[in-house]
Amino acid sequence: MAIIYNCRHCGQTIGKLEQKVMDASLLGLNQLSNREMEEMVHYSRNGDIQIHTICENCEQALGQHPHYHELDFFIQ
Ligand SMILES: [Zn+2]
Repeated sequence: MAIIYNCRHCGQTIGKLEQKVMDASLLGLNQLSNREMEEMVHYSRNGDIQIHTICENCEQALGQHPHYHELDFFIQ
């Protein structure tokens, strides 16, 4: 099984981890609230876990234009 990090804004794959054992604490997922978990963590049918986060490019763009935070899918 793999853990795949995707940018929630541009859809880019940021990183991929091959994990034999799923350890939520290893991923820092245990620090998320249930709501954040629901928003960020998605389980694929093949057992992969997709984590929706933000890539460097989008983070920079958001940093320069903070109001974009209100628009979830500003890059399309
Ligand atoms: Zn992005």
